[in-house]
Amino acid sequence: LTNKVMEVAHLPCITQDGRAIEVLLNAGLSAGFEHSAKLGALGIGLYRTEIPFMTRNCFPSEQEQTQIYRKVLQAFPNHGVTMRTLDVGGDKSLPYFPITEENPFLGWRGIRITLDHPEIFLVQVRAMLRANQGINNLEIMLPMISSVEEVDDALRLINQAFFELKAELTTDIAAELMSSNSKTKLTLEQAQQKAEAISATLTRPKVGIMLEVPSVIFQMEALAKRVDFFSVGSNDLTQYLLAVDRNNSQVANLYDSFHPAVLTALHSLAKQSAQYLTPISLCGELASEPAGAILLLAMGFDKISMNGHNVPRIKWVIRHISFEQAQSILEKTLTLSTTKEVHSYLNTQLEALG
Ligand code: PEP
Ligand code: MG
Repeated sequence: LTNKVMEVAHLPCITQDGRAIEVLLNAGLSAGFEHSAKLGALGIGLYRTEIPFMTRNCFPSEQEQTQIYRKVLQAFPNHGVTMRTLDVGGDKSLPYFPITEENPFLGWRGIRITLDHPEIFLVQVRAMLRANQGINNLEIMLPMISSVEEVDDALRLINQAFFELKAELTTDIAAELMSSNSKTKLTLEQAQQKAEAISATLTRPKVGIMLEVPSVIFQMEALAKRVDFFSVGSNDLTQYLLAVDRNNSQVANLYDSFHPAVLTALHSLAKQSAQYLTPISLCGELASEPAGAILLLAMGFDKISMNGHNVPRIKWVIRHISFEQAQSILEKTLTLSTTKEVHSYLNTQLEALG
């Protein structure tokens, strides 16, 4: 990275006329966080929990998961860390949980698997809640949501995990405080009160969903009533809107997040989340493209999340444009009807920015 780009890494991500957009980190392994923090990311917008699952030969236990998540939460103690629940299936497989399907991307993926296997989901959520105790920067995000029922089912399980864990903690602590080898001798009532105070440090985190299946574009009001935040997965949203496999080189030329239909969908999602007063971010590859970041800023996205090495460059771009300029670029872009026109227009604009 050039010096002029690195110089802005630690400056706020604001436009020349003072409009802010938060730049966050996409991550999957706990290695390299320090380096990413040096690159100026304020928190994690997407922690892909399937990555630590993929590097093992069996499902990690609740305790193991707690340790893994705690390290991640501790890396950014004063910033939000958005952890996505297990998103396997599609192109991501676990060696110890084989799935064979004709159309994996339209099959058993993400939340569909964990709702069919609540024991996997509950253990994961319990581990996240335990890891968050005393740090309180966790946000939970659900992948591949395609209906309101899935959100309701997942929220029910998260509440179950929360209340069961709280009750267990209270009982365990009270028992510990009452036990004969405990130094302080307490009455049952005192122990119970103390245990409740300690278990009150277990808090219920915010819960949000990924917007990556096109059906959600038409259910934003109902979804916004249920969740605390939205995050667009533009990689999958592009794949599903255009019916183009994101990993098939045969059709790679058709896979493009700057397709006018994708941009119109993103704009609609941003407008609807503003209308329903729910924060929205984007954590797909589009956020790390300078032209993408400009359009997302103009659409009103509150946050964008990307791989660490892209953070300084995107900050540099945002700091060298005004919100007004970005809005006029967006306005013009939305009048274009082919992907080719979009790219050539945006390239001219970027060249003008330097
Ligand atoms: C996405 O779909 O854009 C996304 C961020 O998630 P993943 O790439 O892990 O599917
Ligand atoms: Mg996705």
